Amino acid sequence: MIEIDRLEKAYGEHRVLQGVSLRVERGEVVCLIGPSGSGKSTVLRCINGLESYQGGEVRAFGERVDNRAPSIHRLRSRMGMVFQRFNLFPHRTVIENVMEGPVYVKGEAPAKARAEALELLRKVGLADKAQAWPAQLSGGQQQRVAIARALAMKPEAMLFDEPTSALDPELVGDVLEVMRQLAGEGMTMIVVTHEMGFAREVADRVCFLHSGSIVEEGPAAQVLGAPRHARTQDFLRRVL
Ligand code: ATP
Ligand code: MG
Repeated sequence: MIEIDRLEKAYGEHRVLQGVSLRVERGEVVCLIGPSGSGKSTVLRCINGLESYQGGEVRAFGERVDNRAPSIHRLRSRMGMVFQRFNLFPHRTVIENVMEGPVYVKGEAPAKARAEALELLRKVGLADKAQAWPAQLSGGQQQRVAIARALAMKPEAMLFDEPTSALDPELVGDVLEVMRQLAGEGMTMIVVTHEMGFAREVADRVCFLHSGSIVEEGPAAQVLGAPRHARTQDFLRRVL
């Protein structure tokens, strides 16, 4: 469903991705782990066409991802993305945030969009916050609204870029629970995370990225439990 083939990306002289290859099948959950600056966010941004790239190819749903192609908006709308923070529009209520995409991008009738948004808020445990303002929510609640908002576009895959790393520790669990539930429903997911417990439990595969290359990839239990590469071992020693 998502295929990355020898992807190369540079900022000027700085080669940030040096031949990254990754295939994600429908319904798979893949966690990307690795040190700061290894290129994890860049991989996600290339997948949904927020960045151009110089070499290799990214394909999603059978189409080439090219951020200069007119079709990129349509392609991007098939993937939901949740960032570390600052996802919500501060001057719209929670439910308006969730309805926004369906109404303004897809042209859905507001009444229908509202009903679906409420259903999604129920799913992430926040139906009672529908009329609240984002600033009235905790970081974890805001992140769950951000997930609901991405889901409102009925994406075929979800990309998460460290969705819990800006949260206070006691708020992380609720967000991971929503993601776990989504994975259980069969959503295709690529998750950049430092939550090794989540990766171990939920990921079908874990990829360890170092200096713009995937140096180790395999079933979560193997990569996290019995890493083969010295760099993976060293990284896990430091984060676990
Ligand atoms: P972190 O865990 O800190 O989020 P990351 O693995 O997500 O790190 P990236 O954000 O993908 O890393 O960055 C990879 C490299 O690319 C870094 O060295 C970073 O400084 C560089 N980089 C990222 N964005 C830009 C940019 N817009 N211009 C120049 N260099 C950039
Ligand atoms: Mg990052």
